[in-house]
Amino acid sequence: MIKSFFTGCLSLVFIYSSAPAQDTTSYPVSAYRKNRNTKAVLPRFFIDTHNDILSSQQLSDADLGKLQQTGNFDLVRARRGGLSAQVFSVWCGEDYGKGSAFAQANREIDSLYALIRRNPGKMVLVHNAWQLENAYRQQRFAAMIGVEGGHMVEDRLDYIDSLAARGMCYLTLTWNNSTSWATSARDESIQKEKLPFLGLNEQGKKIVRHLNELGVMVDVSHVGEQTFNDVLATSTKPVIASHSSVYSLNPHRRNLKDAQLKALAKNGGVVFVNFYSGFIDPAYEEKEQAFLAAHRKELDSLRPIYKDFAEDQLNRIYKKEAELRRPPLSMLIKHIDYLVKLIGPEHVGIGADFDGSESYPKGMDSVADYPKIVAALEKLGYSQKNIDLITGGNFLRVLKANKD
Ligand SMILES: [Zn+2]
Repeated sequence: MIKSFFTGCLSLVFIYSSAPAQDTTSYPVSAYRKNRNTKAVLPRFFIDTHNDILSSQQLSDADLGKLQQTGNFDLVRARRGGLSAQVFSVWCGEDYGKGSAFAQANREIDSLYALIRRNPGKMVLVHNAWQLENAYRQQRFAAMIGVEGGHMVEDRLDYIDSLAARGMCYLTLTWNNSTSWATSARDESIQKEKLPFLGLNEQGKKIVRHLNELGVMVDVSHVGEQTFNDVLATSTKPVIASHSSVYSLNPHRRNLKDAQLKALAKNGGVVFVNFYSGFIDPAYEEKEQAFLAAHRKELDSLRPIYKDFAEDQLNRIYKKEAELRRPPLSMLIKHIDYLVKLIGPEHVGIGADFDGSESYPKGMDSVADYPKIVAALEKLGYSQKNIDLITGGNFLRVLKANKD
């Protein structure tokens, strides 16, 4: 069994040297990489750790096997973007609670299973690094599952076991809402004094240890700072932040401060950069609020139909205005580069949060646009090796470290 980060990299080299030659015409230039030994041109291993299409697809009923005109993900655009694997987020809001949240999680997993059944040979569900590498070798798109929000396990360890058996590779301990065992970033920042406890309580620590035992990665995106610190003190395995960006560049509570990032790196963990305009650009929030205020009535009429995705719909209606609010791609790249300089390329990855937000930087319209990230990093002089770590090597390493 491969255990260290360095042998993890060797494993990737093995993948490249054993993968069959590809039809390079179907991939954009920066989705390729050259194998050092054989000189064969192969698609780069690229994984994104956070996509919310399963939740939005339940409303739209889109067939994700076919090219869609809306949303950020489908299998056609995934192939165009050279995406090798996707961790699909299973999520429901805080209006789901005991008796309904776990059932909703299972419905979303059912819909992913159905998508896989409808696309035999093209797509496969993977549970671990070995299966992930195998899928890549066979050039099959790999689907993984991340459950976003501890409320979805309804305080039950057997529900965690059940979700792990169905493919959950990480559990995001909280969403914006705290659970009875962990406090969220939102609650720790806006209603700290009202919380019955701060951070992880004993049940929370028990859940982290249980996830460690199962080999399910602990995800600290969305958790409060106290929970973050308690997780690092409790977890015996490297943890991840599946979709978070840099607080120093944009002081949003969902982004991670430098001290947190350094602690995460010390733990052997990885932060996967979130593309949401509101986390990337410090000027976005104010512009967004002004836009929503100007269209308040319309937004209210869209809410009953589109629920959590009403803002996305409003953006579709006022496309020009939405376009003007998007930050430049360079601002997103700055977050990646900042992280690499602060904690090293071994601790950085991509978790775009596509289909979970209403706005992304210019040029980042869908999963077909990942090659632009690779091209920008190449332009900054990043080595092939470091780009490979960011696009997939680090995820493989942390996944293996959790499963061992
Ligand atoms: Zn999220």
